[in-house]
Amino acid sequence: MAQSQLDNLINNQKDFFQSGKTKSIEFRISALKKISGMIEQHESEIITALFKDLHKSPTEAFTSEISYVQNEIKHTIKNLKKWNRPVKIYTPLINRPGKSFYKYEPFGIALIISPWNYPFGLLFSPLIGAIAAGNCVIAKPSEMASHSSELIHRLICDYFDANYIAVQEGDAEVTQSLINENIDHIFFTGSTAVGKEIMKSASNYLIPVTLELGGKNPCIVDQDINIDVTAKRILWGKFFNAGQTCIAPDFALVHEDIYDQFINKLNHFIDQFYSEDDFSHIINNNHFDRLSALIEEGEIIKGGILKPDDLYISPTIITDIDYNSKIMQEEIFGPVLPIIKYKNLDNELLKLAKLPKPLVQYFFSKDKSLQDMVINRSTSGSVCINGTIHILMSSGLPFGGVGASGMGRYHGKESFSTFSYKKSVVRKSFFADMKAVYPPYKTPIKILKKVIKFLY
Ligand code: NAD
Repeated sequence: MAQSQLDNLINNQKDFFQSGKTKSIEFRISALKKISGMIEQHESEIITALFKDLHKSPTEAFTSEISYVQNEIKHTIKNLKKWNRPVKIYTPLINRPGKSFYKYEPFGIALIISPWNYPFGLLFSPLIGAIAAGNCVIAKPSEMASHSSELIHRLICDYFDANYIAVQEGDAEVTQSLINENIDHIFFTGSTAVGKEIMKSASNYLIPVTLELGGKNPCIVDQDINIDVTAKRILWGKFFNAGQTCIAPDFALVHEDIYDQFINKLNHFIDQFYSEDDFSHIINNNHFDRLSALIEEGEIIKGGILKPDDLYISPTIITDIDYNSKIMQEEIFGPVLPIIKYKNLDNELLKLAKLPKPLVQYFFSKDKSLQDMVINRSTSGSVCINGTIHILMSSGLPFGGVGASGMGRYHGKESFSTFSYKKSVVRKSFFADMKAVYPPYKTPIKILKKVIKFLY
């Protein structure tokens, strides 16, 4: 899009926002219903696009990118009026008769930049929040999931006026031109490296940002567990979408007492669960090569089958590595699970605390006191005990990172709040005007001290 077209789009969206239409709750609810209907009507096209981009299984596509979004829309429509209610605050005597309250206001134009791994879910989920809060939106899907990007563009163009919701397709250069505009909020989902660039550009106009980033999510496996359930839950979380999930357990720390037995279980369930036909592929050659290089170190004890022509990597388990290995220096974001043996939980928590803060800390144990210790001592956006991507099923929980894994929260009411700001209002009457507040000041401090106590 040429600069003049982009300027036009932004001017038109500003005018549309100023018309006040998006502030009507009925307007917002009808837009949310439209999105829901659009997704329902084009469900099979969405599943096909995801298969073309990622070889994503229809089940994974439906659960993580369609029904998840539909549930979020339902929940938002049901609660929006309640969330949007002004909140009354205590009014001190000095402001009475009168009222103090705050109300949720949309920012204006929200820019949503999304990644390729869940190209529909991670664009529509923030879009729901932005619309619910009453914003206009420009959405930028990832160019790497090109079929999904093209479909999102076509659908939004067909269903919505671009002055209200527009989709801008393109690569990093396009994103750069968008983030250099004077828009009102940026919601970015992607890598930590690009997140830093987004924040830098946003500082030009002091645009508030939400950054949903990545990182290495540790998964600690204590010896006091149900071993079958633990193995199955970790595999599900790790290999869903071939590990290309921001909240996938990145690596596992397994207690030495159950280490061998646990690895046998992982092997057993990998054989039972996965076939090449029903397993996501790697998004592109760059990521395929990056992952292939990561598994050169250590011992591959399961998987390691690489088919470059199909961008397929089989579910892979690697041992014989430590915190200094190459695979431990970056987010894996692929179907490879490195396993490190540990002896003492306390020591591991100390080591983890020195690493960049992850999105999620996973811990498997029956021991409640150890569970509490991990919950209290980990420095992650979320903690999930005895589960992995299950954390997202509690969709009312605020979701987001901390430190290097991001800033800001969304999902459920948090999505609405993230795309709003709280406008504080004091509404006073002309009645009871206190003379003592005006100059020239004649009241001695000693008396003021006594009076002020009653005024607040
Ligand atoms: P990415 O940062 O490469 O790209 C994300 C978006 O930014 C894309 O739309 C892309 O076009 C744009 N972009 C890329 N380079 C840019 C640049 N230099 N300047 C401006 N824009 C640029 O991320 P990705 O590879 O699409 O996604 C994978 C990453 O996203 C992983 O790190 C993963 O953990 C993270 N992620 C986080 C969440 C979360 O909810 N926290 C969810 C999914 C993915």
